[in-house]
Amino acid sequence: ENIFAQARQMGAQPVSFEIFPPKGELSMESARTIAQELAKLDPAFISVTYSAGGSGNKQATAEIAAMIQDDHDVPAVAHLTCAGASQQSISTAVADMKDRGIRNVLALRGDLPEGYEPGDFLYAKDLIPVLADAGFCVGAAAYPEGHIDCDSLRLNVEHLRQKQDAGASFLVTQLFFDNDCFYRFREGAEAAGITVPITAGIMPFMSKAQIQRMVFMCGASLPSPIIKLLARYEDDPASLRQAGIEYACRQLTDLQAHGVDGLHVYTMNNPEIARAASCALKVALVS
Ligand code: FAD
Repeated sequence: ENIFAQARQMGAQPVSFEIFPPKGELSMESARTIAQELAKLDPAFISVTYSAGGSGNKQATAEIAAMIQDDHDVPAVAHLTCAGASQQSISTAVADMKDRGIRNVLALRGDLPEGYEPGDFLYAKDLIPVLADAGFCVGAAAYPEGHIDCDSLRLNVEHLRQKQDAGASFLVTQLFFDNDCFYRFREGAEAAGITVPITAGIMPFMSKAQIQRMVFMCGASLPSPIIKLLARYEDDPASLRQAGIEYACRQLTDLQAHGVDGLHVYTMNNPEIARAASCALKVALVS
């Protein structure tokens, strides 16, 4: 069953969180603590990213997703990337997720690390049917401002439509700082026949270095209010961080008021961000 269906029946806009498998020896222990804090906020789901690179434990994503479902009774979405993967390695990952009782997967291409050979899957749309056939509820990534390698917004939406046609039943967007970009994208997606729920992904900026990294990585545009905040708090990292959380909360409440299908918060493993977002959304609903 689609993870959006239940929340929609209750008339609510699903609010969800993303975490990544923490690195280091205590990773499962810290993942447990983070999940526990996030579960208290009663999210529609928690998604767990997948590390496509050579480093890191390939099973950590499924392990953490299963822990979220089993220990906290919160639906989990396990991310899975296919760049450089063989049919065999994807079959192994599918079997592992099935064994652990994972029901929802975000199907991604990922980015091939330097020096790695392309594998059996060119695009996320090639992975989606494999996961749908295995019985998962499959989601995919959407890019309100276009994917960094795709210069045409028309092609961007066409590629998104291919993911829906391949069996994706919900979409989660890349971060964006300008809600108008999302509203324009949503109109275009609707016009292109995209009917599955699109949940808007929001990441608060926490530092100048982080925002620069994000903008270079995904090509998100920086609206002038953010540039002004970066200038104002250049020598005051604590205030900049606070301003970043407040900006993200304003984005979320505006999206909520514009009736988006869902709100996804990139928590960066920081429950404080999730708490601030949840609180702002609840306050906006009652006021
Ligand atoms: P695709 O949909 O395959 O698209 C990749 C590129 O190919 C795009 O430029 C697209 O326009 C183009 N394209 C697609 N179809 C065609 C076609 N038929 N013909 C020609 N060109 C085509 N990365 C991780 O490593 N781990 C994660 O856990 C992770 N989670 C993410 C979660 C979200 C919500 C988002 C938005 C991104 C996430 N990423 C993650 C990053 C993602 O892997 C990268 O953005 C990657 O570059 C693209 O992945 P994709 O699944 O969107 O690829």
